[in-house]
Formats: sequence, C-alpha cells, structure tokens
Amino acid sequence: MADYQAPLRDMRFVLEELLDVPAQWAALPRLAGSLDADTARAVLEEAARLCAQRLAPLNRSGDEEGCQWRAEGVATPAGFAAAWRAWAEGGWVGLSGEAEHGGLGMPKALAAQVEELLNAANLSFALYPMLSAGAALTLAAHADATLRALYLPRLYRGEWAGAMCLTEPQAGTDLGLIRTRAEPDGDGSYRIFGGKIFITGGEHDLTPNIVHLLLARLPDAPPGSKGVSLFLVPKFLVEADGSLGARNAMSCGALEHKMGIKAASTCVMHYDGARGWLVGAPHQGLAAMFTMMNYERLGVGIQGLAAGERSWQNARAYARERLQGRAPGGAVAPGLSADPIVAQPDVRRMLLTMRALTEGGRAFSSYVASQLDLARDAPQPDLRAAAEARVALLTPVAKAFLTDLGLEVCVLGQQVFGGHGYIREWGQEQLVRDVRITQIYEGTNGIQALDLAGRKLVADGGALYRAFAAEMRADLDTAGEFAAPLAAALDNLDALSDWLIERGRRDPREIGAASVEYLQVFGYTVYAWLWARMARLALAREAQEVFYAEKLATARFYFARLLPRIHALSAALRSGSAVLYDVPESLL
Ligand SMILES: Cc1cc2nc3c(=O)[nH]c(=O)nc-3n(C[C@H](O)[C@H](O)[C@H](O)COP(=O)(O)OP(=O)(O)OC[C@H]3O[C@@H](n4cnc5c(N)ncnc54)[C@H](O)[C@@H]3O)c2cc1C
Repeated sequence: MADYQAPLRDMRFVLEELLDVPAQWAALPRLAGSLDADTARAVLEEAARLCAQRLAPLNRSGDEEGCQWRAEGVATPAGFAAAWRAWAEGGWVGLSGEAEHGGLGMPKALAAQVEELLNAANLSFALYPMLSAGAALTLAAHADATLRALYLPRLYRGEWAGAMCLTEPQAGTDLGLIRTRAEPDGDGSYRIFGGKIFITGGEHDLTPNIVHLLLARLPDAPPGSKGVSLFLVPKFLVEADGSLGARNAMSCGALEHKMGIKAASTCVMHYDGARGWLVGAPHQGLAAMFTMMNYERLGVGIQGLAAGERSWQNARAYARERLQGRAPGGAVAPGLSADPIVAQPDVRRMLLTMRALTEGGRAFSSYVASQLDLARDAPQPDLRAAAEARVALLTPVAKAFLTDLGLEVCVLGQQVFGGHGYIREWGQEQLVRDVRITQIYEGTNGIQALDLAGRKLVADGGALYRAFAAEMRADLDTAGEFAAPLAAALDNLDALSDWLIERGRRDPREIGAASVEYLQVFGYTVYAWLWARMARLALAREAQEVFYAEKLATARFYFARLLPRIHALSAALRSGSAVLYDVPESLL
C-alpha cells in the first residue's frame, strides 16, 4: 500500500477558501481570539504527522493479528496500546471536548478533518477515540455535575475509554425492544442485568477503565422506546477521588468474528448486577442518545470518506506504475514494454470517479460540520435555528451517502489494481472489508434514508428542504458553466420532493419505497452545488497553482459523468411502491 499522504492542501481549500470557517470562528464568542486559520493548519499538520507515523503503520498488522479474547480481558493487537497513549497524550481524544472539564474545545469543522486523518490512517483504531468522544459528549449534555466532574476529564485525557451499549440480539434498529433491566439499589445507583451484543470497545487493554453508556429499562418503564433509560456503567467502580475501586459485575463473553475492522474489539457483553448510574431523566434514554447522534452519524460518514481517500491514493499511485497494453490513442511510453494503465480511458474513469466523490465528500462533510458548530455556538437565535434545521436535514444524507460512496470508491480502487486488489498484499481488500460496516452501524443506511424522506421531508411538509434548496439556488448566479445543469438538478429535486410529500402522505409505503433513491438524488445534487462553488473558486485561481486546474477538471468530470446518475435514480424512484408489493410475500 502506498504511504498515506494527508490531503492537507485540499483540507485547507475546503476550510479556508470554500467555507471560510476561520471567519465563522471569529464571529463565535466561544472561539473568537483562540482559533484562527494558522492554528487550525498547525493542528491538522500535527494530527497528520501522528497518523502517518504512529497509526497508519499499524493498520495492516492490526488487521492480521486482530483482537484476542482472553479470560483476563481482551487484548488489542501489538502496538495499539502505545499508539493510544501517543494519541491521548497529544490531547486528541478531548479535541472537541468541553474546556471546563479539560477538553480542548475545538469546533467540529476542525475535529471532522482530524477524524478523517485518523480514520484514513487506521479505521479500526479510530473507533476507540471516537467512541470515547461520543460517550463524553453524551455525559456532558445529560449527566449530573458529579458524574461529569468525575468522568469527563479522564475521558478527555484518554485515561479511560468509552463504549456505547445499545444493541441486543432482539433489539437492533428497534431499540424499543431492549430487555436489559436496571433495578434501583437503594443508594442512588442501579443494578444492571442483561446482555448486549456488537459492542465496539466494550472490553480492551488500551485503558484501565472503560465507561459504558448503556440503555436499559427501569422496573416501572412503559413498553417500547418511551421506556428506555440511559446508564453509566464503569468496568471498575470509581471512588470519589477518581481512583479505581472494585471490578464491576460485567464481563465480555466473546468477541464477534467479523468481516473487517478486526483490530476494533466488537464484544458480547454480560451485565450480572453491575452497578450503574442514571444519566438524564428516567425513560429518556433514547432522547439523550439522540443528542450525540448528529455528531456520531457525521463521524461514521467521515469513516466512509476516509477509507475512500486512502483507496484513491493507492489506486492513483498504482495506475501510474502498472504497465499493461498500449494506450488506445497511441503509445505514451514507447520506451517501455507497455504503457501505464492510467492511459486507459476506463482506468481514468475509475480514478476520476474516486477523486470527484472523495473531494466532494470532504466539502460536504466539512459543510455539515460547520453547521453543527453554528447550531451549538452562534449567539444569534435565528442563526442557530437555521443551522439546526440544516443539520437535521443533512445528517442522514451525510451518514448514508458518504458511506455508500466510500464503499464504491474502495471497490473502484480495488478494481484499478485488478487481481492485485483482490489479494491481501496491497491493502485494497482490507479497505473494502473495513469500510463495509459503515453502511450498517449507527443506523443502517436504509434507516437514514427513511429518516430523510419520512421525518425530515414528508412529516415536515418540505419546509426544511425548501430552506436548504433556497440556499443552493442562491449560488446559481455565480455558477458559470455549471449554472444550467445545477438548476436542472435542483428543479428535479424540487419536483421529486413535492411528488414524495404528496404520495407519502397518502400511503406511508411510498416513503420507504422511494427513500434510498431519494437520498441518493439528494446527495448527488448537494455535491453538484458544492462542486459548482469549488469550480468558481478554482476558475478564478487557475493560473496560480496546478491544484486549481485539477479542481476545475474534476468539477467538469463530476457534472459530465456523475451528476447524470440522478436521472436513472429519479426514474426508479417514481415507479412507486406498487412494484414492491405486487409480488406476494410468499415469493420473497
Ligand atoms: C462491527 C459492528 C460494530 C457495532 N458497534 C456497535 C456499538 O458499539 N454499540 C451498539 O450498540 N451497537 C453496535 N453495532 C450494532 C449496529 O448498530 C446494528 O447492527 C445496526 O443498528 C442494525 O441492527 P441489526 O443488526 O439488529 O439489524 P436489524 O435491525 O435487524 O435490520 C435488518 C435489516 O432490516 C432493515 N430494517 C429494520 N427495521 C426497519 C424499518 N423499521 N424500516 C425499514 N427497514 C428496516 C435494516 O435497514 C436492515 O437492512 C455494531 C454492529 C457491528 C456489526
């Protein structure tokens, strides 16, 4: 596998030129004066160094060794514990954590790019700090002051790690089916009884303590999702001074055997009267979990983007070196035994698809991240509300579209390698195996599509959509050569949205039948908007640096070869639910 080169130039382009987030930071009281473009560059350079030097080298060995279950605890692959210490000591686990409890308080727009670097270097490793950051975010928003003071600083410092414990054998998408019980212990704590499956980082040897955030039912819980509460359940009980006490009554019964991310421990967990503490109000566990969902879902989308970036870098290097056949227009390397495959139109198609989807994905994920920052930190209520609306609408798209395209880009990279992409040596097959889970966990992509089409579009009557579409339309005047295709794509999405609102109100089956294609048309249209904006900047600066000429050429490729996908998707979507239900269930 080619050495990972952090795409710092493109990250700067997106942050500073496309979105101008340093200006946004300067206008946010929480960040003004403490963060500017230079500091952000330094943060990214340092993260890139650590990722390239410490984490990327463990990607292959971690996959081959995997995690090992032992009676005394789960062992992560060689080098992971030291890498965790290096990551934690740099303050990276608490990068966007609350300053009040020792976090660095960095905005999501910057943290999102650090997450891309981390995931591109080592997706399995990245899960441990991401889950810790997610657990900390949930505690910061919902736990009482005592729990926050005890746990947050240690999570931010990476002294302890976090895990999110939702899934049970009978309760996956439908968390209302959870059976794990929590019984009051009389001293303000609870005893947890039950089991969880698929728990990433539920048990490992990176940190002496692991903080489980777990969903369970109280004895008086109403049935379904309104009866689920959130608990903090530490592996070791914690004394008032923060020192570790007795081992809690919980254990990892087994590790799941899985397709990829083999260096991330995915645990079957047993809770046999483990002590836990309620986080937030009783029966409000799912609502509490939703606080961090927007952040986590964007984070999973970024995993797809990161794997795609790695695949694109590898494939690009390989296509320049691999000699096979002659270019159709005549030899380009007549002195060699054959031409490099990059001269073949089909290989160029694959490489440019990878590039356009990856760079478009970086622009999109950074845009969503910058809206998360505005939603949290903007002092003006109307600005905050508008950003919240955009985040609500775009989060399911970010999770599902970025990960669907992440898999496509990884598979394309594998294809560029031919048979060498299928064998282990070059790392392409690992990328395909690793990225596949991103379409499944944190709400399957089918569920994301339902969220977009059902809750965010039909139930909302289209208001969220129309506000965002107006923002995209406002850029048509400056879209130059891309104005006409962008306007047509926006007209198409408007028409599809109206069609779906009307049909979906009459018959909910229409929503589920159309949702996946709707999300994809939505995604390609948003990328077209962002590519048009990027092209405008690139056109003005084309003579300055080859970077801009490449950007412009990639924008042209996107509009010519990828945006037209919306036509097939739109036609399929409009076929409605009848073709799905005409077939009797007995034949499926
Ligand atoms: C490697 C790995 C790591 C994981 N890490 C964690 C973790 O750390 N913590 C944790 O709690 N969980 C974790 N999970 C669990 C993961 O989040 C679930 O697998 C996921 O939410 C889907 O649940 P399920 O597997 O039970 O599938 P199901 O819910 O059974 O879904 C099966 C299929 O039916 C579809 N479907 C289900 N319900 C509906 C519906 N209402 N409408 C339309 N379609 C529907 C789904 O989209 C899917 O295609 C992990 C899973 C894996 C494999």
